[in-house]
Parts: sequence; structure tokens; C-alpha cells
Amino acid sequence: MSIKTSVIGFPRIGALRELKFAEEKYFKGEMTADELEAEAKKLRLEHWQLQKGIDFIPSNDFSLYDNLLDTAVLFNIVPERYKKLGLPPLDTYFAMARGYQGEKGDVKALAMKKWFNTNYHYIVPEFEDTAKIELCGTKPFDEFVEAKEAGINTVPALIGPFTLLKLTRFTGSKGAEDIKTALMDAYKAALAEFAVLGAEWVSLAEPYLVTDLSKEEIILFKEIYQNLLAGKKAKINIQTYFGDVRDCAEVLDNLDIDGIGLDFNEGEKSLELVKKFSKEKTIFAGVVNGKNIWKNNYEKTAALIESIKNAGFENIVVSTSCSLLHVPFTTENETKLPEKIIKYFSFAKEKLAELLELKDIFNNINNAAFNKNKALFAENRDCTDEAVQKRTAAITQEMYTRLPVFEEREKLQKAKLALPLLPTTTIGSFPQTSDVKKNRSQFKNGEIGPDEYVSFNKRKIKECMDLQEKLGLDVLVHGEFERNDMVEYFGENLNGYIFTEKAWVQSYGTRCVKPPVIWGDISRKAPITVEWSKFAASLTKKPVKGMLTGPVTILNWSFPREDISLKESALQIALAIRDEVLDLEKSGIKIIQIDEAALREKLPLRKTDRYSGYLDWAIPAFRLVHSGAAADTQIHTHMCYSEFKDIIKAIDDMDADVITFEASRSDLQLLDCLNENNFKTEVGPGVYDIHSPRVPAVEEIESALRKMLLKIDKQKLWVNPDCGLKTRGSDETVKSLENMVKAAKNIRKNI
Ligand code: GLN
Ligand code: ZN
Repeated sequence: MSIKTSVIGFPRIGALRELKFAEEKYFKGEMTADELEAEAKKLRLEHWQLQKGIDFIPSNDFSLYDNLLDTAVLFNIVPERYKKLGLPPLDTYFAMARGYQGEKGDVKALAMKKWFNTNYHYIVPEFEDTAKIELCGTKPFDEFVEAKEAGINTVPALIGPFTLLKLTRFTGSKGAEDIKTALMDAYKAALAEFAVLGAEWVSLAEPYLVTDLSKEEIILFKEIYQNLLAGKKAKINIQTYFGDVRDCAEVLDNLDIDGIGLDFNEGEKSLELVKKFSKEKTIFAGVVNGKNIWKNNYEKTAALIESIKNAGFENIVVSTSCSLLHVPFTTENETKLPEKIIKYFSFAKEKLAELLELKDIFNNINNAAFNKNKALFAENRDCTDEAVQKRTAAITQEMYTRLPVFEEREKLQKAKLALPLLPTTTIGSFPQTSDVKKNRSQFKNGEIGPDEYVSFNKRKIKECMDLQEKLGLDVLVHGEFERNDMVEYFGENLNGYIFTEKAWVQSYGTRCVKPPVIWGDISRKAPITVEWSKFAASLTKKPVKGMLTGPVTILNWSFPREDISLKESALQIALAIRDEVLDLEKSGIKIIQIDEAALREKLPLRKTDRYSGYLDWAIPAFRLVHSGAAADTQIHTHMCYSEFKDIIKAIDDMDADVITFEASRSDLQLLDCLNENNFKTEVGPGVYDIHSPRVPAVEEIESALRKMLLKIDKQKLWVNPDCGLKTRGSDETVKSLENMVKAAKNIRKNI
């Protein structure tokens, strides 16, 4: 037997975010559609070239915005309101992704959600009763041919029909059952086309299979694939990732598929399950972690592959555990980190080399690589701080509970803050205009000194405060001009963190984040945000919210260590942020927001794993941050999503005083759920979408507020946008906030 190699997907954004910059130019009208397509093509070809030598190289993993949206468009799942705009196909596509406001009309973007347990966001396809499913695009075929013409045989990768159906929102009376036949036909047409073009394999991604599946879902999956596979021409791999397939392993095995892709990184039961699969199937073993940046431990991986081999498999393919979309492009552009650190890193490009080395190791032709890797893991990484470890060990049970209880705090806070009903506020950041970014980068590069840097930011804060006063907002913020990113900023001010220069990861569409790396034990160097907040508060009589990022989010948006537990790291970070809360309070700040934008993100996909193994340390870590605050200090938290129906008790149990969250892109179903669960925390469901440049009308916000008031006690409702405003332009921000404040005032008059 011989081992082969496979990649599930490669980052499409480019080593230096070329795709992002090209698209942004296109959106601004500074680039034509043809020029954008040329840039996209260039990137695709470069990325395929890099993957040369890998046996299974994907095509169609590229996307101008999102793969699920691509798949929906391929099968004509496009709501009428976008078609009606009468735009060229590319612009219709971008209208669905980003909204459209122009001569042809005014339409919001489709909803956006987190892709399983990652920080990547997909666009939620919407199916209307009138939609007619058919194969109507050519993207995957074009890209397959494009690669072939460049001399590279690829495996077309397509999101599978089951996952597509499960993630699609049905807005009319039809559901999955009504459209499955048409969808199967359309997929069959696509598979037939791949075969005609000469594809030996096609990979259908079905990550939904790693979630808890009901009987009905399993039946649906089985039915779809039995139908789809009848008369198949190319070999089919069903590719899963982000967990294991424990609910449908048998069904999967009984299908006439040629390959099964399993995640051995996050799939706790994958090894146990793989042993039961029929031995003639090809196992695509996801062993190279597609979510973290550390070098693969070859000894461990070798043992794993050995077990799969011993189970009797002849055809084993070492693969990434998921698409490499979730890791940065290459370590090659990191010029500042010393070799003693870099040598532990492996980004997308380096993971390709790992796959090749692993292949050679298993085929017994590269012992040197194995020994070098073994020596690396045997070294002491020099990353512990005893004082930190002692402090976490000394945390007591009482430190997880804030006293007095919520109801008493609420009374004290209402008296102290004297806010109007439906208080208006923002989530923290204001537009990061080019001058703001320039000031920061000049300071970083040493082109300007600290005095100049600080006085610029103070001018910005002053402008921001004046603006908020003028707009009539009730709770003000300083604007976060000192922050590049809500996590990186805190990381920079904590011991134990290290930073990259170019390690960008796509978060959605053109937005990328650069997660910092947790290298060692974490502690606070000195107060972080206090001076900025104090300065802002000195400019106004209104309350100013201090702005912090919570421990779970800091952890979840960093690349975590693999040598200590996530819980241990979370508690270390919590203690550091706790000190910051207490310092803010001491300096007179009455409201402190602790953002937990990413709390939900790493929630285990399966219900059974949620409370034991995640929420059981994540919620206490958050409580540890604010349990030392005085009763009349109001603690806010913020979340960038509204899917927390299933963990609503845990969210209430964070014991914050106010929670703001994303709500404008999704329906208001969550509000019923708050009611049913006697949610005690005050709430600010976002009244407009900040992911789009669109300005919401006053009536639109009023109508949203009226709906909210049907479900939420007026004493508990806050008025705010969905999230921070940093990515928005100044014009649209001012107009949107003006409308928001007007709407709140209008509604107040009537209650
Ligand atoms: N306070 C942060 C901001 O306003 C929150 C961002 C977020 O939740 N992603 O930018
Ligand atoms: Zn947010």
C-alpha cells in the first residue's frame, strides 16, 4: 500500500490579502469586473501551483465571497428581490452577500452566520417558494478546466446537498422535502458534467454530518445520496470535518461512495468509527490540523495512521482536517519573529510541506524529517510563568459569583445612572478611517512618538464624544481608535502573547482577522484601557462605557496553545481582565462592557459536549472577570450573533447586567425564547445591520423596536446597532445613528 495526500481547501484571500484589496477596489468602482476576474484567476493559479505534489488538490474551493453562497447560486437559489434589481450576475451575487443600495433599488444582504464552530461566516441561502432549482452556473466546471489547462488535475469540491439543505432558510411554505428531488437532479447534472470534463474524483463536503442528527435527518441524508450515487461516473468522496460522524457512520458506510473524509483532529470518535468502515473505501484522514498554526506532531500522526492501517485499510490519504481557509497563508512573510518561535509554526503553505513529509515518512523514505520533528517536540518551549500558575490555582469558588444578586444591582444601577427608557448606545468602535489607521501604523513603525500618537487619538476621542453628544446618544463610548482589533489589542498588552505580521485569516467576504498566538502563561503588564476611558469620561456628563474583551473571546480568537488546556488559558486571561475591570471602576467608570463576541463560536457542535467540556469553564471564566465589581457598576456584554436559544440559560448565567447582540439580520424569534426562559439580563438586540453600508430608515428602526416591545419589558430594552462601527464609513454611520436615535425618541414618546 502507499499513502497519498489531500487538501480540503486552500486560503483564497492570497498571501497578502490580494483578493480582499481587489474586491474592495471593485466595490469602489476603481476596478472593472474583468480586472477583478483576472486577479482572481491569477490567485487561483498561484495557489494550485503551490499545491503541486499533493495527490488530491481541490478546485472550486475558491470563492469571491463565500462557498455556500456560490453553491446556492449554482443551483439557482436566488431570492426574487435580488434578481429584480436587474444587475449583472457578479453584482447580483455581491448584492446577496453585502446588500445593495443604488439606482436599481435598496435591498439588504442575506443573513450571515458562523460556519459551524469557526470564525468564518457563511451567507445563509434563502429559498422562496417560487424558486426553481436547476444547475444554472458554471463556476466549478470553469475552475476545474482552468486548473487542467494549467496542467493540474484537481478534485472538484462542492458543498454537498445535505449540508446545503440544512443551512438554507426556507421563507415560504416549502421545505427540504419539497425541493430535495429537484436538488438531487441538479447535483446529478453537476456530477455528470464533472465526469464529462474528466474529473476522476469529486468531493462533496458534508460537515453537517458531524452535528447531532435526528432520525429524519439521517433518512433524508440517506435518501439523497442513494439517489445521487445511482449511476455515478466519477468517484465520490463525502468529506466531513469539525467533528465525527457518530450518528450516521453506518449509513455513510453503506453508501456506494469511494471515499470518506474524516476529521481526526476534532472528531473524538473518528478513530473508533473508522474501524467499522468497509475496507475497500479510501479513507481521507484529516490529521493535519486545519484550524491551528502549530507544527504537526509526526510521531502522534504516525501512530494514528498506523491504527487506521491496522484496521485493514489499503487506501489511506493523509489530509488536512478541514479547509486551510482557517489558517494564515504562510510563515514566510513573518520577518520579526525569531527562529526559535517560527520553527514551531505551520501555516497553510507549510502544512502542504507537512503533508508531503508525512507521505514520505509513511512510505519509508524520509526518516530525517521524522527525527527532526521528534526532536522539536522533545525540546522545552520555555513558556511557563510560575506566578501565573499559582494565581490560577488559588481561585476560590466565591470568586465566580458577583454579589448582590442581579435584581438588587439593577435597582442600584437605575438609580445611579438615571437613563431614559430605551437608552441608546453603540457597541464601542467608531469608524476606523484611514487617518486613524495611519496614526497607529506610524506609531508602530516608530515614525511618530508616543506623544503625537496619543494626542491624535485624544483628538479623535474628542470628535467622537462631540458627535455622540450631538446625536443625542445616552451611553457614550470612546470609539476604540487605539485598537486594531478587539483581541489583538488586548493580546499586545498581555504577557504570554506573540504576534504575527501577515497571518491573516478570512472572517467573511473581504474581512480578515489576524489572530494573535498564545505562546505562554498569560498576565497583564499594566492597565490597558484606563487612560483612554478616563479621558473620554472627562469630556462629558453622560456615562461612558469602558470597553473590554472577555476571556473566552480573547482565547477563541487567538491561536491557542496545544500543551495546556483551553480552560487553563481562559482562567489566566480572566484574571488579567478582572484586574482591568477593577482599575476602570476605580477611575470612575460606571459602565463596563466585556465583549464576548466569540463565546458561541467554539461551542461544541454536539449538545452532549456543551456543558461538560466547554460552558462549564467558559461561563465561570466570564463571571470571574466581573465578580469583583461594585453592585452599582453596570456590566454589559456583547455578542455578534443571536443564535443562543439553545444555550440561553448559560447566557443568563453569565450574570451580566445588560447584553447587546446581533439581531437585525435574523428574525426576532430569539425574543420569544428570552421570555419563555424569564431571561433576567437587560437586552439590546441590534436594530440595524452594521455589516452593510446601507442606512436604515427611521421607520424601519421604529418598526423593529415596536416588535421588540411586544416581547421585552420596556424597562429592559436598550437601543443599539448590531455590533461595532469600525468597518463602516463615517457618513453612513452618522446617518444611521441619527435615524436610530430619532426612532428611539419617537417610540419613547408613545410608551
Ligand atoms: N466593542 C467592539 C467594537 O465595537 C465589539 C466588536 C465585536 O463584537 N466584534 O468593535
Ligand atoms: Zn459584535
